[in-house]
Amino acid sequence: MSTSSGVVKSNSDLRSPDKAGNKKEPNESKASEEPPGHGATSRNRDEEPPGKRNLGRNRLFTHIPNDQWNDWRWHFRNRVTTIDELASFIPLSPKERAQIKLVTLKYPISVTPYYLSLIDPTDPKDPIRQQAIPSILEIKMGTIGAEDPLDEIRCSVVPGLVHRYPDRVLIVLTDICPMLCRHCTRKREWLAGGWIRTSTEIDAMLNYIRKHNEIRDVIISGGDPLTLSTPRLESIIAKIRAIGHVEIIRIGTRFPVVLPQRIDDELCAMLARYGPIWLNTHFNHYREITPEAAAACDRLLRAGVPVNNQSVLLREINDTVAAQLKLCQGLLRIKVRPYYLFQCDEVQGTEHLRTSVETGIEIIEGMRGHTSGLAVPIFVIDLPHGGGKVSLQPNYLLSQHEGELMLRNYQGHLFSYRNPKAAASSVLNPEESSLLGNPGTGLMREAKGVIKRKEPTCA
Ligand code: SF4
Repeated sequence: MSTSSGVVKSNSDLRSPDKAGNKKEPNESKASEEPPGHGATSRNRDEEPPGKRNLGRNRLFTHIPNDQWNDWRWHFRNRVTTIDELASFIPLSPKERAQIKLVTLKYPISVTPYYLSLIDPTDPKDPIRQQAIPSILEIKMGTIGAEDPLDEIRCSVVPGLVHRYPDRVLIVLTDICPMLCRHCTRKREWLAGGWIRTSTEIDAMLNYIRKHNEIRDVIISGGDPLTLSTPRLESIIAKIRAIGHVEIIRIGTRFPVVLPQRIDDELCAMLARYGPIWLNTHFNHYREITPEAAAACDRLLRAGVPVNNQSVLLREINDTVAAQLKLCQGLLRIKVRPYYLFQCDEVQGTEHLRTSVETGIEIIEGMRGHTSGLAVPIFVIDLPHGGGKVSLQPNYLLSQHEGELMLRNYQGHLFSYRNPKAAASSVLNPEESSLLGNPGTGLMREAKGVIKRKEPTCA
């Protein structure tokens, strides 16, 4: 996609002209300029290992003037898309260069300078690096899985429009993204050449939505839809908003994470005109919650756009309770709700990043009750062949008998719980009960059983 975005790369912009890369930009540390949420985020810097937190700007990009660094188009034009460019920022052995070259023949590379600046170049296992830099395992394990495990192509009712659930549709507007995430579900699109839906295709999608009164929720995704210019995006959003039965519009984007400068005043003012618009983004690791990302989310929230997070469970990146706690608690501090934790889809080229389902359930078990419920995402598997999302959670229901459940809490303590089935019928005589209909369920009879209940104890 980077090859066809129509932008001219000027990599000379990126390279540091000399070793004076340690100069601090004059306004960088003015606390008065920090949006709400910055203070809390910044405090965590103390917990970070030296060199781990957003030092890249100082290390690699000090020579880039602030007006360029703050301009999302500059980052987009200067995405790193070749091995030579990458090697000028991150030390790569000849073997690594050869391996990455091999991988990029099938799965290209694209990293924004901003996201590159978050990588610790000395750590091959750096969780930011692993999301952005190709691994030879993408090829070595590349036959495992499917190209389109969710059957998105088959489920498209018109090109680019997926109608899988009764009341909502997904519009895939483009295959272009500012960064190519190594775990992407739509890796199959990466060699497609970079496309944006034509006006004719968009009209066909809108006509479908207009004809289906049951559609109340339209999700705009990609690729990344915010790749489009704000006026172009507005022309589409305005038409969706004009459809009477569409209640909410959702935008799926990773820009707040990989290029937060995109969330500028122009975009936020436009989104504010067409609400209710919800935005789902994709933080995977707490180190992605930078001051820039926090400010982007804050701008969205102030424009009346609620921000939810959908992260993907990734091996050796965020597959521990500690990593998820830090991520989700950090998100709450910037007022972003942890919404979903996805089991990584069975996509070819991602197997090395996938974990067992048990890992995801154990993580939720390690979070539920141990931190605010708001910080606990829903762990889901998106089923193959278009089966849709299924949520999984630890088994807290140990047994179920007539009128009684045996439950365990987050500490492993056991509690019996009276299950008030058909409570209204328990005070009615059989004749009256029969008038309620469907007495054959047995629920009313069970409700007369003896209830044993253990009083809860607080640990
Ligand atoms: S932003 Fe989303 S669609 Fe784009 S490469 Fe990353 S995971 Fe894939």
